[in-house]
Amino acid sequence: MSYDSSNIFAKILRGEIPCKKVYEDDFALAFHDIQPQAPIHVLVIPKGPYVSYDDFIASADDVEIVGFYRAVTKVIGQLDITAGGYRLLSNAGVDAHQSVPHFHFHILAGKDLGAKLLA
Ligand code: 5GP
Repeated sequence: MSYDSSNIFAKILRGEIPCKKVYEDDFALAFHDIQPQAPIHVLVIPKGPYVSYDDFIASADDVEIVGFYRAVTKVIGQLDITAGGYRLLSNAGVDAHQSVPHFHFHILAGKDLGAKLLA
């Protein structure tokens, strides 16, 4: 699947659509999900044009990959959720119902999330 630069997260990265920003650096942008599934529901996206987790790992360079994961970890620290716990997940493709084709992690926290998030 090739990257579609008209997706909503690309528009957020370009500043064409607003977001409730949590964190930003050279590698990543984190913002609150517009339809939160938990008291804390933050999305973290890389700044580069990657469709999915596998595309990101295959196509990004090592500096981007490390920078992105360090950014995710900074967001987790900033949200102060390590004591209570959190879920980090990424949907990819049709079976996972990925709805925005720009790689992203969901960070969910703030309540008992249950053992799994299967529908
Ligand atoms: P996915 O289903 O691709 O794993 O997750 C996409 C997420 O993006 C969903 O949780 C959805 O609520 C969120 N989302 C979709 N459009 C927007 C938007 O315009 N702004 C924000 N902040 N989140 C969005």
